[in-house]
Amino acid sequence: MKWLAFIAAVLLAGCAKPEPRVTAGPFEANGPPVTIAEFALDGKARGLVSVPRVELSDDQWRARLSPISFKVTRHKETEFAFTGKYHKTHDAGIYRCIGCNTALFYSATKFESGTGWPSFYEPIAKENVEMRVDNSLGISRDEVVCRRCGAHLGHVFPDGPEPTRLRYCMNSASLEFVPFPKETK
Ligand SMILES: [Zn+2]
Repeated sequence: MKWLAFIAAVLLAGCAKPEPRVTAGPFEANGPPVTIAEFALDGKARGLVSVPRVELSDDQWRARLSPISFKVTRHKETEFAFTGKYHKTHDAGIYRCIGCNTALFYSATKFESGTGWPSFYEPIAKENVEMRVDNSLGISRDEVVCRRCGAHLGHVFPDGPEPTRLRYCMNSASLEFVPFPKETK
């Protein structure tokens, strides 16, 4: 009977396959609440949720991110064009924040900008990103950051395609692409 119990346990574990993590671990759940839009694995909107902002020290971020993701998200560096892993990706799914897993962009809004950076015409939800004025490099640009963890994602420019005419020029290093499950496609 032992092996039957084992098989049952494996089957149950399979059924209980968790959704990708939206709420962060306890050591991260230390900031004031922030309201973001939540999205299921298959891309369905689940409505707004209140979650603690993710606030970590530089050392904690360095420990959990790759060197390039750390430099881009926490110190606003820009990856070299055509070097990121997503500028040519066209699979169906959701691009999430590398720092806190917040959903940021639907693959359907990604377009070929020719810039060498993944480019989108709109974020998945206005609640999930924040715009800030960035006056570095001697010019004024609109910086895009993750609402939940403050990760630098890239900039937005007014030269994108319809329907928004905006170009969200993102760093691959700030993103984690999660493809839709096969059975829904
Ligand atoms: Zn984030």
